Amino acid sequence: MYTFNPGPSQVYPQVRRYLQDAFDEGWLSAPHRGERFVQLMRQTVQELKNKLNVPQDYTVFFLSSATECWEVLTQSLTPTKSFHLYNGAFGEKWYEYAKALRPETKGLKFGIDEVPDARNLPGLDEHTNLVCLTQNETSNATQLRDGAILNIYNRLPGNALLAVDATSSMAGIQLKFIKADIWYASVQKCFGLPAGLSVMLLSPRAVERLRKVNERSHYNSLTAQYEKMLNFQTTHTPNVLGIYLLSRTLHDNPIIKTTHQHVLERANKLYDYFDQATRLRPLVTNPETRSSTVIGLQGAPALIEEVKRQALAQGMQLGSGYGSWKPTSLRIANFPAIPDAAFEQLVQFFAKEFA
Ligand SMILES: *Cc1c(COP(=O)(O)O)cnc(C)c1O
Repeated sequence: MYTFNPGPSQVYPQVRRYLQDAFDEGWLSAPHRGERFVQLMRQTVQELKNKLNVPQDYTVFFLSSATECWEVLTQSLTPTKSFHLYNGAFGEKWYEYAKALRPETKGLKFGIDEVPDARNLPGLDEHTNLVCLTQNETSNATQLRDGAILNIYNRLPGNALLAVDATSSMAGIQLKFIKADIWYASVQKCFGLPAGLSVMLLSPRAVERLRKVNERSHYNSLTAQYEKMLNFQTTHTPNVLGIYLLSRTLHDNPIIKTTHQHVLERANKLYDYFDQATRLRPLVTNPETRSSTVIGLQGAPALIEEVKRQALAQGMQLGSGYGSWKPTSLRIANFPAIPDAAFEQLVQFFAKEFA
């Protein structure tokens, strides 16, 4: 059975062995104030920086989910308001979480075949603390390319920081971390691990802002987490097992450049195939805005249902459409943990049943 669900998604097969090792090595009862845990944290952070090409001067945080990152970024880095550029359900949810805490927050929606124009962003002004982008919009299978993010970064007004949700792309494709101040992801997507842990990266500029804002009124205030993290410690008992699994997968996986090429090749093959040969078409028309890690397909509701049902009967779980796209689309995760054999089986299935 393969799952192409874009989260929670297929985990790496070696997770089974890592879990056994975690038990045998005593990690499940390891004290999180002990030297052994500190060593694990230090090692995981270094492994993450090396394998994903994270600048050495960025600070790594471990939280519990991408949703927690949304809230924490508002609490600890947004004294006044944020600005959200979004085209789908996750970007919009982030906007709503932020607006609930900072009512002046502004949002701007763009189309799924559109690249946002950095020179024309109504609602973005010099009182904005945080500009928020979703690099890979999992709900509708779109993606912002490096150039689109860079154009926004180069035009940030006043003292605004750029924050990027990379939940369904980090560890799958190479991201230019230096071109934004804040990046985060949760591990149940491209990291190929069970849910319950997220990774957030802050640039030195974002850390400086954090200390200036000095917000301390929540258990998960980033300020306190930063101070603990200086010594590879946490404010509360962390997900030690999740961190252990992360360190093991990062250690055993190739560098991101290699993974990136593999993921892109597979994405190109899939888009080429669905552009021509089947009754389903890519959900996103513009090749420039298509996601490389989540492939969206569209078709009539009855066809979508039929494809999902038959795929499942042949041992392949496809991802349903999300939100308003649910009846007319389906999603195929192109995450690194899913083996090439699964994609071969998938394409054969479409060629045989739905060409
Ligand atoms: C899955 C996802 C989230 C939510 O992640 P959680 O870890 O469940 O909070 C947020 N943003 C994007 C783009 C996602 O794909």
